[in-house]
Amino acid sequence: MASFNLFLLPGDGIGPEIMVQVKEVLSWFEKRGVAKFETESGLVGGCAYDAHGKAISESDMALAQAADAVLFGAVGGPKWADVPYDARPEAGLLRLRKDLGLFANLRPAICYPALASASSLKPELVEGLDILIVRELTGGVYFGEPKEIVTLENGEKRAVDTQVYSTHEIERIARVAFDLAGTRRNKVSSAEKHNVMKSGVLWKQVVTKVGKEEYPQVELEHVLADNCAMQLVRRPKQYDVIVCDNLFGDILSDVAAMLTGSLGMLPSASLGAPDAVTGKRKSLYEPVHGSAPDIAGKGLANPIAMIGSFAMALRYSFGLGDAADLLDKAISRVLDGGTRTADIAAPGENTVSTTEMGAAIVAALNEISA
Ligand code: NAD
Repeated sequence: MASFNLFLLPGDGIGPEIMVQVKEVLSWFEKRGVAKFETESGLVGGCAYDAHGKAISESDMALAQAADAVLFGAVGGPKWADVPYDARPEAGLLRLRKDLGLFANLRPAICYPALASASSLKPELVEGLDILIVRELTGGVYFGEPKEIVTLENGEKRAVDTQVYSTHEIERIARVAFDLAGTRRNKVSSAEKHNVMKSGVLWKQVVTKVGKEEYPQVELEHVLADNCAMQLVRRPKQYDVIVCDNLFGDILSDVAAMLTGSLGMLPSASLGAPDAVTGKRKSLYEPVHGSAPDIAGKGLANPIAMIGSFAMALRYSFGLGDAADLLDKAISRVLDGGTRTADIAAPGENTVSTTEMGAAIVAALNEISA
């Protein structure tokens, strides 16, 4: 039986509650002989600051480096609002992304039929929606230099952020998008602003070249990023994989996310470059939502985004696509059956706790594979 080394970082707020549910799912797959998961747990975010005075310790960073995949819950909360900037809870996540070289962020937007009516769009526009946003995560305007606010001679201030991309950064994210499209519906939509930005011109050239030379079987279209935002709320099902830079990806993935209902439903993956020898990528899987301090400790959190993140780990880090499909089916079945945590319930509908939702998903796994 294949064995994988999984490093769990539950974090703060609802992070530990939803991670417990992943452990249940994980042990179900172990008992079924799908794979062996060696797990270790560490501290990240506010809890790590309380224990070590920093958002992640060096020993936990080393465990993250050594793992086949990192599962991350959420960090932050009002308790740590005034800690030094470098030790703020988010610094733990940023350090992980940077040190593991996680340049590709994958955010699926899947609309489960049972939740189509919860979307802000008409159900027929989103029912069956299944798109994947591939966002460049380590470059672009969030990191480009110069990045500063300077005072001019006349006393006025001027703020500068720099949007910068090199060929290799665009090539590697384009390859991730094309590879993933090949496992889906074979279509990549590249969103940039080549009409007004030099980085958009280069982005378009490089993505076109990679597509033509390496992935001729995958359909490629270019769409201006602003038009892409419009199309996402007008006719989202036209897309399969959307690839974009850090800034546009930040915005477009949030737009796509809201098509599907609640934050509690949204998983994500961040991947690094394949290792030259083993071919394995460093990877971190996390729900899109934060630590939800308003509901932490009350058993109200929806664990589906966290469990869905584990499903992505099965698919992208462990090569267990069938197991991932099974888990996605189990989630869908539970929703079809009307089981709802409070965040996805319609007014007046019965709701279940975090633990009950986790147990329902395990029960559905049993039923489907009986
Ligand atoms: P949030 O995502 O934590 O919560 C927003 C709203 O959605 C809240 O009402 C919350 O109760 C609800 N919600 C979120 N996840 C849910 C779930 N699984 N089930 C049910 N309801 C859920 O965002 P916020 O309130 O802006 O931030 C709270 C804290 O989380 C802050 O400290 C913020 O910095 C941090 N944060 C962390 C991450 C991360 O760890 N990656 C991401 C975003 C925010």
